[in-house]
Amino acid sequence: MTEKAYQYRFYPTPEQEELLRRTLGCVRLVYNKALQTRIEGWYSRQERIDYKQTSAMLTQWKKQQELQFLNEVSSVPLQQGLSNLQKAFANFWAGRAKYPNFKKKRSGGSAEFTRCAFKWKDGQLWLAKCGEPLPIRWSRTLPENCEPSTVTVRLDASGRWFVSLLVEDHTVKVLPQADTRKDFLHKLTTRLVRENQTIAVEDLAVKNMMKNHKLAQAIADASWYELVRQLEYKCQWYGRTLVKIDRWFPSSKRCGKCGHVVDELPLDVREWDCPECGIHHDRDINAAKNIKAAGLAVIVCGANIRPERRKSIGQLRNTPERSLRERSQRERSRRGKKQKPKS
Ligand SMILES: [Zn+2]
Repeated sequence: MTEKAYQYRFYPTPEQEELLRRTLGCVRLVYNKALQTRIEGWYSRQERIDYKQTSAMLTQWKKQQELQFLNEVSSVPLQQGLSNLQKAFANFWAGRAKYPNFKKKRSGGSAEFTRCAFKWKDGQLWLAKCGEPLPIRWSRTLPENCEPSTVTVRLDASGRWFVSLLVEDHTVKVLPQADTRKDFLHKLTTRLVRENQTIAVEDLAVKNMMKNHKLAQAIADASWYELVRQLEYKCQWYGRTLVKIDRWFPSSKRCGKCGHVVDELPLDVREWDCPECGIHHDRDINAAKNIKAAGLAVIVCGANIRPERRKSIGQLRNTPERSLRERSQRERSRRGKKQKPKS
């Protein structure tokens, strides 16, 4: 089930407007008072005042002679304001938002009513302490058989009133399988590109591999082609480097530690021991390490990673510096020799 907000314009009666403006004023006052208290608590005593404490303070404020008017409006929006302040602090601590600000009258305001503070009947909405239903202009229909769980009333800076109804929407269906994957891929590629300056991928011959029936389904499921496509354009957007490693580079068959390349490594072998140095490998992790090392070497040398033969064992090590050095040695020794035609 999905929760969805439906927003409408409404035109309050003079009595409703008077009450709602007072409610918004009280919400603002309570919010700002609580914020002030939290700031003072921290800066004068290094004390973190939480939601529970501000909620207890609100009870005390309501008993004070000069704040008696707080009792004339619904208490729910006042509590919700404190809860929103708590969320604002949580977002600030998590680095998602700036330090909470004081609310200003000129920017309008809002009040949040939970289930106990409004009545919903026959498609009409009554807010707490209001005798008449809210005159809402129903510009779009609410989904059938639904009840709002939260109602937010908002006054904008130019004096227009809006009401937002949060409802469980039965019409929103779970995304089809095909879209779920796309959504997942987008999230994954965005994260990879944001978190890394350089990304190395194996330039797999997807079309050829699809011919192998055993592999076809796995490749189709993993959407490799789409993954690389997204990485390509997102790397461009964010100014990152994407290195494609030649598909003939033996990323799986090569020992990431000593460089030994085994002759065969059937697909069903998920773990193996290097016959040369004896280290135990997880097939995928070893391949990923090789691709990373190759990618870094490509960046340093600006070269393509060519297939290695057994003769060239140890050419590629985990550090780009070493790869660079070894590669230039290889280039030197190769000079004068006839180039093997590319297969
Ligand atoms: Zn080894």
